[in-house]
Amino acid sequence: MDTKAFKRTLQHSENYNRKGFGHQAEVATQLQSEYQSNLIQEIRDRNYTLQRGDVTIHLAEAFGFCWGVERAVAMAYETRKHFPQERIWMTNEIIHNPDVNQRMQEMKVEFIPVEAGIKDFSIVDTGDVVILPAFGASVQEMQLLNDKGCKIVDTTCPWVSKVWNTVEKHKKGDHTSIIHGKYKHEETVATSSFAGKYLIVLNLREAEYVADYILNGGNRDEFIQKFAKACSPGFDPDKDLERVGIANQTTMLKGETEQIGKLFERTMMQKYGPTELNQHFQSFNTICDATQERQDAMLELVQKNLDLIVVIGGFNSSNTTQLQQIAIERGLPSYHINNVERIKLGNFIEHRQLNGDMVITENWLPEGEIVVGITSGASTPDKVVEDVIEKIFRLKATASAL
Ligand code: SF4
Repeated sequence: MDTKAFKRTLQHSENYNRKGFGHQAEVATQLQSEYQSNLIQEIRDRNYTLQRGDVTIHLAEAFGFCWGVERAVAMAYETRKHFPQERIWMTNEIIHNPDVNQRMQEMKVEFIPVEAGIKDFSIVDTGDVVILPAFGASVQEMQLLNDKGCKIVDTTCPWVSKVWNTVEKHKKGDHTSIIHGKYKHEETVATSSFAGKYLIVLNLREAEYVADYILNGGNRDEFIQKFAKACSPGFDPDKDLERVGIANQTTMLKGETEQIGKLFERTMMQKYGPTELNQHFQSFNTICDATQERQDAMLELVQKNLDLIVVIGGFNSSNTTQLQQIAIERGLPSYHINNVERIKLGNFIEHRQLNGDMVITENWLPEGEIVVGITSGASTPDKVVEDVIEKIFRLKATASAL
């Protein structure tokens, strides 16, 4: 499929909207009351610090809702206002936050049902409205919805679209897109659908394996098996790694994406020499500002003298996991939770580890005076962060009164 031509046609269709419907002011008030927090504003105003009783809170200086997420949620609210009677579907969670997705369902904005891991679009009729989430949708899904005559509301973040344009450029130059991301993540699925040939690497270790194969060759079968779920159909490592371009899932660790880019630049330079480099390597900056700011703020936060860190965000939120990884690398006790319910009475917390396991830790709040670092992922409303901070204050106040 000529994905570029399809996108152009879609964008000119009267069934397609990516700018909203003119209800911004009403929706802004509603969002403010549902998701904003006076306490968080107060902490921001106090230089991101608040002390109450035995607890000092340090908030990261960039955290929570990014503008791409705010925009997507606002567009979804606007869509409901604009189409009060129509059936409205989402191809995926609008963003990775359970409270926001719950709210969508209360507004009768439904998910496309999934059967055995496959979305069942047969439920969607002509004239239904379908919202594409902030991290986008695959070109095949867009085509299917367009063919059905649905009204498509596209909330894809412009930063994600920028990555799609990048892989289109790789395709035009006959470069294989090396995508730093998680092959199952919806954003990476969408990005790879716009790519020609592609290979998805999860981290620097996988990238080094690929770079070594480019320079020294290796076991072809092992390579194909290793990346079986993370490459374009018919990918041939002996032919398809002669010309490469770098792209990324926007929420990966910024430093790692940069290292991977530099690694492949060095590799191609070594293999083909500096004069041929441009023929064999392409790189454009596609790291999103919001991800970068949140990761930089986390790097600053972990420099402070903290007893522990609470990282708040959806369990399937990639950018939240990256924040937690920074805390773990620093050696700080860190607890990734998705909402306040994970903090239990009796000094227990149920939290997600980096490997995805859920564990319960007892006595996670130390006795006496404590300093707690707090951050949240780009899909987390301030209200959720407020609930967590208030609960920590309450638990510590109760403990010191005993
Ligand atoms: S994290 Fe970045 S790419 Fe993702 S929605 Fe927010 S602004 Fe857009």
